[in-house]
Amino acid sequence: MTDKTPHTFDTRPFDVAVIGAGIHGALVSHQATRAGYRVALVEKDDFGAATSANSLKIIHGGIRYLQHLNFTRMRDSIRSRRAMMRFAPHLVTPLACLMPTSGHGIKGRETMRFAFWLYDRIAADRNRGLPPANRLPTGGALSEEECIAAIPGLENPTINGAALWHDALAVNTERLLLEYVLEARSYGAATLNYTEAVALEKTGDRVTGLIIYDRRTHKTSTLATRAIVNAAGPWADRWLQDQSGIAAISSGSWARAMNLVVHRPLFDKYAVGLEGARPYNDSDAVIKRGARLFFFVPWRQHFTMIGTDYRQLAAGEDGKPTRDELEKMIAEINNIYPAAALTYDDISFYHWGILPCREDPSAQEDDTVQLAKESQIIDHGARDGVHGLLSINGVKYTTAPVVAEKVVAMLQKVVGEAPERPGSYHYQRLPLLDHAILVRKIGAEHYNSIRCHLEQRYGERWRQVMRVLYAAPEQLSRWVCPDTPLTGAEIVYFIEHEQAVHLTDVVLRRSPMGSASCPSASALEAAAAIMAKQLSWDDATTEGEIKAVYRLYEPLTRGDHH
Ligand SMILES: Cc1cc2nc3c(=O)[nH]c(=O)nc-3n(C[C@H](O)[C@H](O)[C@H](O)COP(=O)(O)OP(=O)(O)OC[C@H]3O[C@@H](n4cnc5c(N)ncnc54)[C@H](O)[C@@H]3O)c2cc1C
Repeated sequence: MTDKTPHTFDTRPFDVAVIGAGIHGALVSHQATRAGYRVALVEKDDFGAATSANSLKIIHGGIRYLQHLNFTRMRDSIRSRRAMMRFAPHLVTPLACLMPTSGHGIKGRETMRFAFWLYDRIAADRNRGLPPANRLPTGGALSEEECIAAIPGLENPTINGAALWHDALAVNTERLLLEYVLEARSYGAATLNYTEAVALEKTGDRVTGLIIYDRRTHKTSTLATRAIVNAAGPWADRWLQDQSGIAAISSGSWARAMNLVVHRPLFDKYAVGLEGARPYNDSDAVIKRGARLFFFVPWRQHFTMIGTDYRQLAAGEDGKPTRDELEKMIAEINNIYPAAALTYDDISFYHWGILPCREDPSAQEDDTVQLAKESQIIDHGARDGVHGLLSINGVKYTTAPVVAEKVVAMLQKVVGEAPERPGSYHYQRLPLLDHAILVRKIGAEHYNSIRCHLEQRYGERWRQVMRVLYAAPEQLSRWVCPDTPLTGAEIVYFIEHEQAVHLTDVVLRRSPMGSASCPSASALEAAAAIMAKQLSWDDATTEGEIKAVYRLYEPLTRGDHH
């Protein structure tokens, strides 16, 4: 038996119901709630379980848009990056990036130096309001010797140095997204995971409700709402098609994007951008480089994320990577950077998702995938005569804060100014914990290492986790997983305070236990045992939950796990 407790929330009519808790839905809910609207966020799976968990985790400042001379998009990226770095400084941190330079033309050091000079002026306010440790320095250059030292074994006689710039890394995209959902909930939003948006209800041409289906209780109900924001990512069109008379918002053409996670720390100090071997025609770049960049991103000390590879999907294809495709990607990476000498066994996980492509007839003439470049917000009142319905076609994790800001501005036109006073944070004053008791019970050394770990992972929330641990310190302070720090207290906290329902929620999204590689059998069993106790799972359910985790790593997991 999994948790069948119905969601409890204040059922007064909502101002807005948001469909989908990817990064766009999470941020729209967060900003709309903070602006004073009554918000319901409805997610058919777990918060952030789809595309948003699978990004390369680079929060781009948009330097690449210089190629397109697209200054609006660049400013949107700079503002969004700053907003995320400010919101969760413990989760979004500076990332130094390198790209080798060659010759004296478009890929040369002089061009790069000019590009950074220009970019640093456009991004002059990039550090406003950021804590000192998170401030991003200006761009620069490395000499040929420094470049070779940073990228050992780089075999290219034309390389004469490297360009150096700073972006940000969302070390844990899943927790960052969850932080937005949790804060929206603290401000009064109803946040419903494992709940599917089925259909809209209208009175005349106006949205008046959203029919939802709770996947745990199998109950269908209706949320009364004055507006709906469809932020269902790759499913947005399918949902619209089910609502008769509403045309699609995307081109109907989709690509599968994939990164590999390898259990090899290839570069320690820098994320490195190297050109792919296949030609790439960026059809709307003013300054064309002729090749797509592959980024090698150092991650969590022992891992490197490498990507991104794109493949056009045929209609109806789901895109889940096969062993053959993973092997081909390894071969391509070895071709780009032979010194890596990666093998299939180095792959510890892969991240993949589906992204919208452009409607671009010229793209059909070659086989380079042309991703949609700009996020769009569609007002179905103006376009289709369905008033109170907005849809988002989002193209980047990074720019979700600016997209959300625009959606909230449109909501003001659709449903009027927020009727409630903003900022009503539901804060429960709790008695102070006596940490000396904890120190006595679990020992000073263990207490200090747990506290340090909780502060790093949960920021301000660390005290809430400690409060859970306080209830049974000897038992709940034990480490569950040898590779990734995780205590029993955190698992109980995820269930009681963060709406974790399944083992996959804990392993992949509440904690980073499984986001880089499949956890060991003993760690999974220990985590499942804690959940089983909390949620009264029987043996069959517990086994099913463990199997569901293994399935996520196929074809990398071996048959002996099943
Ligand atoms: C491999 C890869 C690498 C990437 N790297 C980067 C990067 O480095 N930087 C960057 O900025 N971006 C990157 N991106 C792009 C970025 O991840 C996406 O643009 C972004 O996450 C899309 O978010 P979303 O909220 O629109 O969609 P999603 O995250 O897919 O969210 C949509 C949600 O809607 C839910 N849903 C669907 N239908 C319903 C329904 N009927 N009822 C309720 N819920 C529903 C789904 O379950 C899902 O959770 C990358 C993407 C991929 C795949």
